[in-house]
Amino acid sequence: MAKRTKLNPYRVAVQVAILLSLVYLLVRPYFDRTYTADFEAYCPFGGLQAFSSFLANNSLACSMTTTQIFMGLALLVGVIFMAKLFCSYICPIGTFTEWLGRKGRKLKMNIDIKGLPDRLLRVFKYALLFVTFYFSVTSSELFCKTFDPYYAIFSGFSNDVVVSYAVLALLFTIPGSFFIRQFWCKYACPLGAASNIFAYSFVFIGITGVYVLLTVVFNLPIGWIWLLAALSIAGMLLETFKVRTFGLSVFRINRNADTCTSCTLCDKACPMSLKVSSLSKVADVDCHLCGDCVAACPEKNTLKLTSLGFNSKGNETEPAKRSLLWLPAAAIVVLTIGGLAFAEKIHIPTISMKWGNEAQMADAGVYEQSGLTSIKCFGSSMSFANHMKEMNGVLGVETFVGDRTVRVYYDKAVNTAEDIKSAIFTPVKRLYASPPAELRNIAVCEAAIDRFFDPNDAELLSTRFSQNKGILGMQTLFGEPVHTIIYYDPKLITLEKISQLIEEKKVVWTIDGEEFAANTAFEVASIAAVANMPMSEYLTRMYEPVSMTFNSFETFTPDKLEVIEYPFADASDPALTDMPWYLLSHVSNNRGVVGFETIATDEGFIIQLTIVKGKVSSEELTKLLNADNLNVHLSDGTTQVLENPYSF
Ligand code: SF4
Ligand code: SF4
Repeated sequence: MAKRTKLNPYRVAVQVAILLSLVYLLVRPYFDRTYTADFEAYCPFGGLQAFSSFLANNSLACSMTTTQIFMGLALLVGVIFMAKLFCSYICPIGTFTEWLGRKGRKLKMNIDIKGLPDRLLRVFKYALLFVTFYFSVTSSELFCKTFDPYYAIFSGFSNDVVVSYAVLALLFTIPGSFFIRQFWCKYACPLGAASNIFAYSFVFIGITGVYVLLTVVFNLPIGWIWLLAALSIAGMLLETFKVRTFGLSVFRINRNADTCTSCTLCDKACPMSLKVSSLSKVADVDCHLCGDCVAACPEKNTLKLTSLGFNSKGNETEPAKRSLLWLPAAAIVVLTIGGLAFAEKIHIPTISMKWGNEAQMADAGVYEQSGLTSIKCFGSSMSFANHMKEMNGVLGVETFVGDRTVRVYYDKAVNTAEDIKSAIFTPVKRLYASPPAELRNIAVCEAAIDRFFDPNDAELLSTRFSQNKGILGMQTLFGEPVHTIIYYDPKLITLEKISQLIEEKKVVWTIDGEEFAANTAFEVASIAAVANMPMSEYLTRMYEPVSMTFNSFETFTPDKLEVIEYPFADASDPALTDMPWYLLSHVSNNRGVVGFETIATDEGFIIQLTIVKGKVSSEELTKLLNADNLNVHLSDGTTQVLENPYSF
């Protein structure tokens, strides 16, 4: 007898391809700093939760994407019409635990849980399915991230992961699956539970149909949670009572009892521990159509993967049973590519809020703006919608977090597209360095920059500017394209160099020793020097004044008061923008000081201290200002001691 492969090679090829893709996602950030791997982006279970959340709330949370939704829908179609192909061919946990189980079997350390314990354990995954969907829909966050062993490992236990949940799940997954084949899939995986419900397709379609009829046609106020509960309970009962799958699946494993020698190689090959050798047709909900039993069977035309309307006739050298093994692998690849293609074409909004009436919406103008990196999650989308709601004539807002796009519906009789764009724009003011003491006039240039719009663009350009000597500050103003006013020291940097900096393609920065990077595509539409600006005007424009009276200032008549000035050039240090306020608080500890004000001059900032004549001497003031520490009163009523960075 020719030596036969024990595994379905087409499935192994798909599994290896998926694992290699994951390795690529893992290592890519090491050679492309601008890339951040999203290990949940293609998760169909996340997609099913996201889709449910979208149906219930008309919104997608930040961690939910259109790609996930279409992968979830591909899984749904796949399970209903074929089998649990995602579990078998794609799921990395399934692949990993199956390989672990095989190892345990080789070492004769596998046990099978049978009878009542097996049935009772299966209830757990339906409970987990219910809880996961409930919290995902009510919180608009993917609850599965808190415990998903795959996500915990590949994200390096990111902040979304609840360590105790994930550790428990990892115990189920790793030692559990070593000793009990497919322990995670059979007893704990909520996606496995959802897939089993879809596999009983007539029940799934029936319950969902009744719910839609009652809520949509008869308008009964039945919450989605009842549908979720009914589906979970139905799936749990059908599985624990070992009801054979019945539905629309076109694939089946069939055994020809006449030619079967009862060698039980198929039983040994089955990762789900099914007794294939005793069945004429495998209709167990655990069968995920891996095809390993077919690949392991040594007898011709005995164990076959058959499909409605698509059966190979086979011949002497290529029996029919083998020639169809490629079909599930091809089907899952087509489904996956189809899901990704739909996700590229169809965009589901993160939020969709329309407060205009039907007539207004029918005639509304639509303004769309892409590339808004500040639109990055559900929360920022809601803030944006609330901001736009305050604008007269705005009728609705949609955001698409995946491609950082907003769509604003507006009344054309009230607003123009330019008005909307202006309202979306957020001006930014940034400081990078103190003006040098000898500089009396600040050089100023104005640049119109294409592909540069939202505050995050300004942050990236700011990061680059802050890494180059000579640029003192930057302001952005609304315009088409956006106008950027750049203040600089002409002795240290030229206009040409500034233009080059704007058009550089990459920004790299470090936080706590970790390096980050981002790509930029800013283009200078025009750049020109404008008239130099006196230092006093620059300081007034770019720095907030610090000014306050205290210690019963208003009780003193002007003749009782005196103003004393100190040079305060360090007030323009961008790294210490809050410190003048702390200095103010510190000097207010002396009851003889009743006023503090920073004044911009052409020589830099000065402080004017208003004192009560005779209550404090200039020596005391100098000592107060030069104290090693500042005693500061905070707005919450507490006090704090800070190191004094200034000397006078
Ligand atoms: S019965 Fe066959 S196709 Fe089904 S899970 Fe077992 S080995 Fe795979
Ligand atoms: S491997 Fe083939 S011959 Fe052996 S028991 Fe299974 S179906 Fe029968």
